[in-house]
Amino acid sequence: MLKIGTIAWLLCFVSCVHGSDGVAVETHSGAVAQYTVTIFDNLGGARVRACFNGVAFARLVPMSSSASSQLQSASIDGIPLEIHDGRILLNEPSRHECVNYETQFKPSRFRLGDSSAVLSQSQWLWRPEPLPDEVSTSVRFTVPGDGRVSLSWPQTNGVYHPRRDVFFVETFGVFGDFNWQAFSVADARIEVARLGPTPREGDVRRWLTRAVEATASVGGRFPRDRLQFVIVSVDDPGAAVAFGMVRRGGGTSILLLPSVGVEVAQLEADWVAIHELSHLWLPRLYPEDRWLSEGIATYLQEVLRARCGLQSSARAWRRIRDGFERGRRSGSGRTLADESRSMNRTGAYQRVYWAGTAFALETDLRLRRRSNGESTLFTVLNDAQRNWAQETRAVSASRVLAALEQSSGAEFIKALGERYAKSSDFPDTSYVDSPEYDDLRMQVSALADGGCKVSGESSR
Ligand SMILES: [Zn+2]
Repeated sequence: MLKIGTIAWLLCFVSCVHGSDGVAVETHSGAVAQYTVTIFDNLGGARVRACFNGVAFARLVPMSSSASSQLQSASIDGIPLEIHDGRILLNEPSRHECVNYETQFKPSRFRLGDSSAVLSQSQWLWRPEPLPDEVSTSVRFTVPGDGRVSLSWPQTNGVYHPRRDVFFVETFGVFGDFNWQAFSVADARIEVARLGPTPREGDVRRWLTRAVEATASVGGRFPRDRLQFVIVSVDDPGAAVAFGMVRRGGGTSILLLPSVGVEVAQLEADWVAIHELSHLWLPRLYPEDRWLSEGIATYLQEVLRARCGLQSSARAWRRIRDGFERGRRSGSGRTLADESRSMNRTGAYQRVYWAGTAFALETDLRLRRRSNGESTLFTVLNDAQRNWAQETRAVSASRVLAALEQSSGAEFIKALGERYAKSSDFPDTSYVDSPEYDDLRMQVSALADGGCKVSGESSR
């Protein structure tokens, strides 16, 4: 996100988690973890009953050290358990045990009084340690009053069944009294939670449908079968959408912050939703490799909007050129990999995002040139995505680049990516404006057949 300066505090809301993948001591098939979570009336905390079967564990631990201070008490059968650094210690290792504990939530950034709040599961989810490689996890909630829950996790009859990465990667959960809607686009089930004075239901549906369709047009399919959006309006008259963020813990969730009073046409034309959705063509990447995911998402946000009739082709190329200029002017002199690793600290977002965009553009143009337009960044992303469709851990750029290279048969991609990552100079993009690239540029931003409509829409 480029509008990060004004709301940098958001980063810590969901990304300051230092949990590492636990090392499972044993693999026990049939391991079960069942959580019953009772959210307090003021949405200020939760009482949790966590029952385990077939999980040999010695303690329960929080997702992040920052959550440690939130733990208030823990017990088994009314007998208090020792707590050390936010960890619940069992008197003796156990396989079948129900632990009760209570946590106090940190104040949520997104909260409407006592009626609704957006909360990461790091606020209430403590995991058994060691955690088995395979564990069947279920979570059920009790919410105050007639309140509801919105989460990206698969659910049946009010019981959620998140993937194992729910214990390590944060996501957005919405609790309380809020507006909720669901529909289908491109065979994906979309669930939307809206807090506060957000755009109306019909406008939100139109906006997100266009954004999902544009993103799906990369491969004629959307790379997820379910997706949750959390929409919270903010007072930021400078932008249609002030901020967006993807979270993937246990499912896929996207937070979007539209400006209060924005029109639906402005929302549709805006880049933020398409940028966040475009991230879903790639896996989560290591911090030093974020130039690749941000670069591809930034490239797609511009060319997809041109191809789908949401902005003119001329505007897309002007924005790309302007972005390259900003990227060239910013940065801290580090290599692109180092800039990526440290950008939350240095603020070198423009450098990272637009150098990554230069890589995406160069790759796309070279692929198109060598194949007469048969192979493009779109076709190789669509093909390579199947390599990490089930991947829940962060992966390296070299794995992604190798997959793109294999999908395309183009032997330049890995070496090109390595050259970008090692360079402390902004890439030379002057070639893009030379007449010999006119046709290719037009090919990239040409209006797609059918304006990016993808089959599989319904009004569920
Ligand atoms: Zn991004």
